[in-house]
Amino acid sequence: MTTILDGKALSLKITEKLSIETKSMIRKPKLAVVLVGNNPASQIYVRNKEKTAIKIGMHSLVLPLPEDISEQNLIEQINILNGDNDIDGILVQLPLPNHINEAKILEIIDPMKDVDGFHPINAGKLMTGQKPFAIPCTPKGIIELLNEYKVDIAGKNALVIGRSNIVGKPIAQLLLNKNATVTIAHSKTKNIEDIAKTMDIIVCAIGKPAFLTAEMVKENAVIIDVGINRVDGKLKGDVDFEKVKPKTSFITPVPGGVGPMTIAMLMQNTVNLYKLHN
Ligand code: NAP
Repeated sequence: MTTILDGKALSLKITEKLSIETKSMIRKPKLAVVLVGNNPASQIYVRNKEKTAIKIGMHSLVLPLPEDISEQNLIEQINILNGDNDIDGILVQLPLPNHINEAKILEIIDPMKDVDGFHPINAGKLMTGQKPFAIPCTPKGIIELLNEYKVDIAGKNALVIGRSNIVGKPIAQLLLNKNATVTIAHSKTKNIEDIAKTMDIIVCAIGKPAFLTAEMVKENAVIIDVGINRVDGKLKGDVDFEKVKPKTSFITPVPGGVGPMTIAMLMQNTVNLYKLHN
């Protein structure tokens, strides 16, 4: 029997809890989102984040900046947000234009306002078993989802496909922290199919529609699909969902799985940082 890991339902539960919490706060938590340029996907993501923040009673500031902004100017804008005591969380929407050094910009954000958990201090804390000020939202959302459905992680063989700083590496670390035995695969990995077939848990985060096929999945595996791909105007994950689903014990759908959990975790991280600032 397959159980669908319903990220939409759990994210609603989490955001409802957060709205009750923010009601009793005199100063409301405030999230600042820096949006450089006119990337249409980024604009949609930022709008959704703003809508959710407002819905749960937080304040939201979207700072739109021109595509051709200089790196120095962007740094100055972030420093203004760092110094603003009303702002609890700062998020720089990625990707940034090519002339801007992404790593340098993420390092400018005050680690205690780093709501995405991408600052090297927070990444380092996660790596070394200390408590980061914030854990990256997508990986954190995946762990929440697994916890909610009481999916066993300790002692399981887990494969993470993808090694980005925002998904692959932090989810691998979080699974390791939960005592899974973790393998990370990437574009240079040989025989992914053979490796995948032996795994109890697979997290697929590469951005290739229907990459993970039924032949790559063993019976009763747990499948987490992080991918967001547009195929013929529809949202599709990295997993060949309909064919893979019957073989699994738990699986996330796209849409309605990891995506909504990511936004819920962003809100939770903002509230957590607010508490640190008070
Ligand atoms: P990314 O930075 O582009 O990284 C992609 C990773 O996939 C890289 O590590 C790459 O390997 C690996 N890869 C690419 N092709 C591969 C292949 N054929 N076999 C094995 N590995 C392969 O992407 P990302 O930011 O992590 O995002 C991944 C996907 O998740 C995208 O579809 C993105 O839209 C989605 N996403 C969803 C959410 C959400 O909330 N649901 C959040 C973030 C991202 P190399 O390192 O060797 O290049």
